[in-house]
Amino acid sequence: MAAGIFGNTEALEDLRDGFVGSLVTPDDPSYDEARSVFNGMIDRRPAVIAQCASPEDVAKAILFGRHLDLQIAVRGGGHSVSGMSLNDGGIVIDLRRMNAVTVDPEARTARVAGGATMSDLDRAGEPHGLATTGGRVSTTGVGGFTLGGGTGWLDRKFGLSCDNLLSVDLVAADGSAVRASEDENPELFWALHGGGGNFGVATSFSFRLYPLPVVTAMMLLWRPEAGPDVARAYRDFMASAPDEVGGGLIYLTGPPEEFVPEHLVGQLTLAVLVAYAGDEPAARTVAGPLLGLGHDAEMIAELPYAEFQCMLDDPPGCRNYWSAEHLDAFPDQAVDLFCARAGDMIVPSPSQHVLFPQGGLTARVGADYPVPWRQASWVAHPFGLWEDAADDERGRRWAHNVRADLQPWSSGAVYLNFIGDEGQERLVAGFGPENYRRLAAVKGRYDPENVFRLNHNIKPAA
Ligand code: FAD
Repeated sequence: MAAGIFGNTEALEDLRDGFVGSLVTPDDPSYDEARSVFNGMIDRRPAVIAQCASPEDVAKAILFGRHLDLQIAVRGGGHSVSGMSLNDGGIVIDLRRMNAVTVDPEARTARVAGGATMSDLDRAGEPHGLATTGGRVSTTGVGGFTLGGGTGWLDRKFGLSCDNLLSVDLVAADGSAVRASEDENPELFWALHGGGGNFGVATSFSFRLYPLPVVTAMMLLWRPEAGPDVARAYRDFMASAPDEVGGGLIYLTGPPEEFVPEHLVGQLTLAVLVAYAGDEPAARTVAGPLLGLGHDAEMIAELPYAEFQCMLDDPPGCRNYWSAEHLDAFPDQAVDLFCARAGDMIVPSPSQHVLFPQGGLTARVGADYPVPWRQASWVAHPFGLWEDAADDERGRRWAHNVRADLQPWSSGAVYLNFIGDEGQERLVAGFGPENYRRLAAVKGRYDPENVFRLNHNIKPAA
């Protein structure tokens, strides 16, 4: 198909006519950079990458793709593990140029263009001391993140990212502009709270913001042998922790930072990360039980949320495989299994063997959005990143084994942003069976021909 289109330069000229952004084709020197995504395993060659600069560009690109019967991919931050924002021989609607963020400090809202990253949003809120729930790194796209639900350091305090949506502007499959909010197209608005990129290309989001002048980062480190004791203590601590406490229990490769002792650098290390939505004295008081455990090293700092968000930024271009299991409980037996599996993680590497707490406001939001995983107490998230293709099998096996071990405590639901394509059963579990049917009806209305199918795909109802 690709060669066909580029043999047919006239077709491309049609798209170029009035297109404000850039069109990148395989003969362009920037093509390889333009087609690279976070997961270095993904090597796809679209026929054309439409770097859109406006909603009108997006509409043009959709109609062009449909006219030529090209597969259409939509690219935000390019972080999906299975590379859903790329295709072979089709058109990519690349939103990265559309990254403007405007904050209204009086109304405490932000208007965020569809291709903005978490960093764009955080940095725009920072001068006003305002923030909202974002991901745990700064490079993720607000688009894919929020449309899938959106969990992060602040979700126990402010709810999921999608809980803070006020409206979304979309370009639908027929090229028309649609706004979704509580008052306009409310069923579509409901579907955009977890239903992903199934319903159109989001060109703009409006979010609720909250005062957050400072956060406190607290990272405590141990040798891995301390794992089961520390994990039990962390579990018990989180059972009554206030909503201000986010964070996680993370096995990682000890980084070469000043605060990390030599015996942990480059070695499997256990970290408890407390992301406290408040100042350091309050953080120290609340985290007293963790600070009393006797750790090997610590880093405790008050910093703006936008800075905090960059602390764990991972390098792009590694080979990636991740999965997730949402847990209703984390009893001692699960703790032991989880900690033992950390030994299978590839070390040294940027991989993380993670347990995130949920709860807080995330669990208390009463809305019936299609994110059934919000009720789980914990998420085990084997997040594998490595460099050598020879480790592919090992990396995958580790993630599968983590899930298999924890099955007895699984809530059955799964957050689809934390997994790639794991089959239809898991996909339906991501939304819940009843929600899936309701989403399919919305899909049938806004994208009856399933133009937007490079995603956790909901088949349109007739
Ligand atoms: P893309 O690959 O560009 O897009 C993913 C999907 O969303 C695609 O189907 C795409 O078509 C669609 N899409 C993207 N933008 C739009 C848009 N504007 N309109 C319509 N469809 C769109 N998730 C969390 O919840 N919390 C975290 O803390 C977190 N941390 C992460 C850290 C790293 C290092 C990585 C790689 C991922 C992390 N994720 C996290 C997962 C992340 O939320 C998902 O991978 C998400 O899909 C990424 O969105 P994206 O726009 O960056 O990716």
